[in-house]
Amino acid sequence: MKKISRRYFAKNIGLGIGISTLLPSFISIEDYIPEHEEKKLNIALVGLGTYAKILATGLKKSKHCQLAGVVTSRIEKARDWQQTYGFPEKNMYTYDNFDEIAKNQDIDLVYIVLPNGLHKEYTLRAANAGKHVIVEKPMALNAKECKDMIKACKNAGVQLAVGYRLHYEPHHLEIKRLGQEKVFGSVRMIEASLGYDITGMSPDHWYFKKELAGGGALVNLGIYCIQSNRYVIGEEPISVTAQFAPKTKPELFKEVEENISWQLNFPGGAVCNSMTTSNCHVDRFYAAAEHGFFEMSPALSYGPFKGRSSLGELDFPVINQQAAQLDGIAKHILSGENVPSHISGDEGLKDMRIIDAIYKAAETGKRIFLP
Ligand code: NAD
Repeated sequence: MKKISRRYFAKNIGLGIGISTLLPSFISIEDYIPEHEEKKLNIALVGLGTYAKILATGLKKSKHCQLAGVVTSRIEKARDWQQTYGFPEKNMYTYDNFDEIAKNQDIDLVYIVLPNGLHKEYTLRAANAGKHVIVEKPMALNAKECKDMIKACKNAGVQLAVGYRLHYEPHHLEIKRLGQEKVFGSVRMIEASLGYDITGMSPDHWYFKKELAGGGALVNLGIYCIQSNRYVIGEEPISVTAQFAPKTKPELFKEVEENISWQLNFPGGAVCNSMTTSNCHVDRFYAAAEHGFFEMSPALSYGPFKGRSSLGELDFPVINQQAAQLDGIAKHILSGENVPSHISGDEGLKDMRIIDAIYKAAETGKRIFLP
């Protein structure tokens, strides 16, 4: 397998020739070359908070999507966005009249960027309105909610995807290839950790409320460790052990965990050890295989990522993660073939089952087996 470098990538994408012979098998040419330049997917963002603003930047850079509307608490807030992004006034909704979006042929897809506890409700409402859905991670509060969301979208004949931003990112495509193609033999051990310090946030923020967040660092950040474990190894874990760590700020983390560590066991024998925290910054990934290693740090955040393997540097272009994710999903919808992207609701459900098991393991102190 030929190693793909930043230079190869830039040169060949730029020229648009001979790319397929240079791309690792996990990098699909379609992920980078526009197929439907004539049509862009019209997206309405639901919830205009911190991450919606980052998505709006990604939407500007997207080849296949554009920001076409918003759904928010007050029409004045929607108007600020409308003036900045220039979509028609008729594409502005509040949470109260959101269901009227069913009559709006201008909107193809609804992207839910609300607190986690509202993901299910708005996915069901969007599906009922006949719109495709992207829902932010974590997909929902638990696996049961994920199943309900998948069913609702299936019944409505719309696609459901989860806002996983790393599935189309070149460094992550490469570690997936290194793991799944066993370039250094079977992966035996992964250490992956992600943490941000959010202790300066207001205690009233929904991130600290169980009903709206579902959990703490695990659902917010640890989910990226679980994702990377699964796509590097290419298997689903069979059992999990987990431990809550003592809280440094119990007055802030009254309802959700501040830190949690866990270990996933995979059927081929790999063990993945992770920690996630809301009280300091950590962002790393290390995989040990039979005949070599690969690692990244930063690894799971917005980057820019840096990595190396037993063979040398992982040298890939820095891309806009959100634009790549949006284009990856849009490609599937615009093809009209009703084939879900590989970050469909099923992918979100798999992670949520593992998260449910991690909490159960930490609460009971027992090893939890996954079906
Ligand atoms: P945020 O608090 O900045 O924004 C949430 C928005 O929801 C706000 O506009 C708020 O007004 C609105 N809202 C509606 N009903 C609400 C209610 N009952 N309580 C509180 N807010 C309410 O949050 P955020 O950081 O933008 O996170 C939103 C979603 O995006 C979450 O699911 C989060 O996990 C996800 N997220 C994903 C990434 C990523 O990298 N993929 C990064 C950050 C956040």
